[in-house]
Parts: sequence; C-alpha cells; structure tokens
Amino acid sequence: MSSDISAITGGKIYTMKHPGDFLSKVYIKNGRISETPGDGDTLDITGKIALPAFEDTHTHFFGTGLSLTQLDISELTSLSDIKDAIAEMVKNRPKGRIIGIFGYAPENIEGEELSGEVLDSISIDTPIFVRRKDGHSSFGNSAFIRLLLEETDIKPDDVVGGFIPERAHTIADRFFSSRITREELIEAAAKVEKIALSNGCLTLHSYVPKKWWLKLLLEIAPSLKIRVVPYPEIEDIEFATSLGLGRVGGCILLDGSFGSHTAALFEPYADDPNNLGILYKTDEEVASFFTEAQEKGVQVALHAIGDRAVEQFIQGAEEACLRLGEPFPHIIEHCELIHPEQIERMARIGLRAGVQPTFDHLWGKPGGMYEKRLGKKRKELLNPFRDMLDSGILLAGGSDSPITPINPLLGIYSAVHHNNPTQRISTFEATSLFTSNAAKLVFQGDVRGTVEVGKYADFVILDSDILNGEDILSANPVMVIREGKIIFSNTQS
Ligand SMILES: [Zn+2]
Ligand SMILES: [Zn+2]
Repeated sequence: MSSDISAITGGKIYTMKHPGDFLSKVYIKNGRISETPGDGDTLDITGKIALPAFEDTHTHFFGTGLSLTQLDISELTSLSDIKDAIAEMVKNRPKGRIIGIFGYAPENIEGEELSGEVLDSISIDTPIFVRRKDGHSSFGNSAFIRLLLEETDIKPDDVVGGFIPERAHTIADRFFSSRITREELIEAAAKVEKIALSNGCLTLHSYVPKKWWLKLLLEIAPSLKIRVVPYPEIEDIEFATSLGLGRVGGCILLDGSFGSHTAALFEPYADDPNNLGILYKTDEEVASFFTEAQEKGVQVALHAIGDRAVEQFIQGAEEACLRLGEPFPHIIEHCELIHPEQIERMARIGLRAGVQPTFDHLWGKPGGMYEKRLGKKRKELLNPFRDMLDSGILLAGGSDSPITPINPLLGIYSAVHHNNPTQRISTFEATSLFTSNAAKLVFQGDVRGTVEVGKYADFVILDSDILNGEDILSANPVMVIREGKIIFSNTQS
C-alpha cells in the first residue's frame, strides 16, 4: 500500500470528459496526471477500468460515523424485534449513557407502532432516543424526555406521549450530539473513511453541524486518507470566512421531509389533506442570507425538498441577484419536488442542485412512500434529473449519509434506473454526478473530477466496465488511488 504509481495501463481509463472517451495509459508525476512518468511502479489494470475517484456531495460526516456506534433498526419489521434489539443495547451499555437509535421506519412495521410508553417498558432509567429513518422526528422514553425538559428549551407540550416532532426533534438531536466527546468523533471519522474508500469514494462533501466539530475536522483532515470538502452546517457566514472556507450550509432546513409530512408543498399531502408541510424561514430571511453570503463570496447550500421550499430558495436567490446585480451559484440540496417553470428559473440564474438518486430507488417505486404522500400525478414531478440536466443545471450526486449509504455505484444505478422512465439519465451522465460535476459543484473542477494532465491523479479502479453496459450494482471498487498512491485495495496483491 501507498507506494507511488508512475503509470496506469492495461485497461480502459475513462476520462469523464465526453461519453465513451478513454485512454489506454496515463502517466503520473508528483501526484498529478502528467505527460511523462515520475518515479514509481506501473499499475496494470487488465480486465478492469479506471475512473476519476468518486465524490459524494452530501454526507453528514460525523453523523455517519457516529451512526455506526448506535443501533440501526431500519431493517426490523416488527415492534417486538425492535424492543428486543433496544433491550439488548440497554443491557450492554454503561449506565447513564443515552442509548441512541436510528432508522425507525413505521411504514415497515406491521401492527402496533413505537411510543414513549413502549420505550418505558424497556427501561425507565436509561435514557432512550429513537430517531425516524428520515431524520425529521423521534421518540424518547421518560428518562430521555426528562433530560430534554431539564436541559433544553423544549416544553412538556412539545413532546406528548414521548413523540418528538420536527422542531423539538432538531433540538433533541442537537442535545444528544452535545454529549459526544472528541474521542468518539475521531473514532467516527475513521469509520467513515473506511466505508467511503471501500465504496470507491475518495472525496466527501462533509456537513458538520457544530463549530468545534468543524475545527476538529480541519485539524484531522491532513491525516485522513480521504479528502473532505468541509461545510459549516450553521448560519454563520463570518465563521466560514474566518476559517477560509468558501461555503456554508448543508442540511440547513428550509422545510422538512416527505416521510414526516413536513416537506413544504403548494398543494396538501395526498394522505393528509389539511397539511401543507412546514417552512422554517421567512422569504426575507432567505433572501438576506443569500445577499450577505454573496457579498462575501460564500456559496450557500440549503435543504429544500417540497415545491414550496424550492420556490423559497429560488425566490431568495432571485432577490439577492436583483439587489447585487448578478447571480451566484448557490446549491439547492435535495431539490426533489420541482415544476418545469421552477427548473427554468433555476437554470436562468445558474443555481446548482445536489441530488440523491438513491432516494428515488428507496421511495419512488409504485405504491411507495412518494406515491402515498403525493399521489400518482405529483410523484411524476419528483427528482427530474433528465429535465434538470437538459436545462443546463449543474447536477451533482450525494447520499445524504447516514440516510442512505455512501455508495456512489448505488447512486449511479438509481439515476440510470429512475422509477420515472422519462427522468432516467445515461450511465455516463450518472457517473459524472459523482465525479466531474461533484468537483465542479464546489468550484474544484480545475483540480479533479476528470482525467486530464495537471489534475490530481485520483482514481477508482472497478472490476467491471459500467460505462460499456456491464451491470452497475455488481461492479466492485477494487482500488482507490489518491495523488498517485494506492490508499485502498481489496485485492491481496
Ligand atoms: Zn437535508
Ligand atoms: Zn442531509
């Protein structure tokens, strides 16, 4: 591991500049792709392909690692299995530590659902905190609710029966993460790195919701094998600029999610006819935030899922554009429910979109969650990758990990096999979401994302030719190369 490579040869090296464009040899010198070889070995990739290393544009960096130290119940389909799994965890954890659980998906559960009472039947003295899979609401037992009422602004009326809805959930989640130590974060970072590399992913756009967590990430970044693109996920533009970061945001919420009936809609939910979802900010707050950011040259990414939230984003950006006389390429994260007229306006002022194709894979099937929430007709408007690309919008791909796994091949597969056939995109286009477009999204396309002389020698080696029709889901990342060094290999050689 980590010896220098001076050339890659023996298999196709896709440049990702144009569809079908590949080289049969590249030279590497001083960590960059070069016209002449530097010192080191030649890597023979016969029978395999090389691509620019994958890049995931939406990860909750520490949240992903921390989720691995908590209990994931997303695969469990009965309340009794959930109770057994939580009881086991309570038994094995030191007393007094909050038991963190995530992945609760009531749509997968037959019969009785979770409640504060059910959690109390497992333990009344160990605090238990269970978050829904979509990350927008949660449950706590009495011991956890007691802590929330003592140590946060949450009021008893906000958390009836142990259910912690949207706004209170955000506070509860923050409270839970405030109990996390530096050692736990460092351990979490190592776990994220391992998962990313084994999925061929070298660069993670990393959303970090606390200042000291972000400073820690910047401190450890030079010793990580992966690259991080840090996003302070807080509304403090000064803080971002003081650290020399040209961006701010991430899942800073304009609205909620479809799963929790909180994504903001123009027309009510199909399965909740009096509900239009939630907007967290006023139009003026959004416009001023964009204006201030643009004045300081800072790119903003905000979470907008429903059409009413997407509208607030676009309007805010249009307003900032009017005030300052020019547009700025901010990023709509998720950008799921969007009308053709809104796509046109996004394109007109150069807004970018960070999308999660795996969402459609999970929730876009006939009869699935999207259809239940929005009805058949409105579901057709969701995640319009084909239309957004055709209108010239820069589209990049992410996982929203830990909501879905850091697994660009699954993202590529999901975009190619979109549940709405009119929104499918080609394998080349889908791959570009996780390579060239991902780098361009944050103005770093000049140093990575395609195979070109002068750019970083960052590659993922796959064991099947996905760009030539071979099955995407059965492809395996067998190696990741960063700046000419092998930093991950799952072969014995
Ligand atoms: Zn989000
Ligand atoms: Zn997110």
